[in-house]
Amino acid sequence: MDTNCIFCRIAAGEIPSTKIYENDKVLAFLDISPMERGHTLIVPRRHWATMADLPSGDPETEAVMSEWFRVARLVCKAAIKAFGGGANLLQCNGPAAGQTVPHLHLHVIPRPGTVETQPSFVSGARAYSSDVEREATAELLRRYLR
Ligand SMILES: [Zn+2]
Repeated sequence: MDTNCIFCRIAAGEIPSTKIYENDKVLAFLDISPMERGHTLIVPRRHWATMADLPSGDPETEAVMSEWFRVARLVCKAAIKAFGGGANLLQCNGPAAGQTVPHLHLHVIPRPGTVETQPSFVSGARAYSSDVEREATAELLRRYLR
């Protein structure tokens, strides 16, 4: 754990988050600056800043990566069932690629619009109007994950 890392602190329960799913390897929680309602981040509990920091051929790392993507797939399916339309998976490595928190994470961005809709990639474009709306959104995703 990197004590200066906000996602490590969320994973450790030191900073509150709206969790969708968690196990011993990964955690999924709502993005605080959502591009769309239900925008979720999936993070490994273990700290790596970017893909470039992952060791090759280490079985423990491979197990975390496998679980990381398995949970991303589940959240993606839940998002499409919950909101309709489609969903984006987005993974950014380094500030030049738009990564603002240097702890490996995968975005699942629900896209409830139609084919004519151009998706926005602007953080905070679809902020929650209230804590009630945020919690109701989380509960909808959790329901489709079960
Ligand atoms: Zn971290």
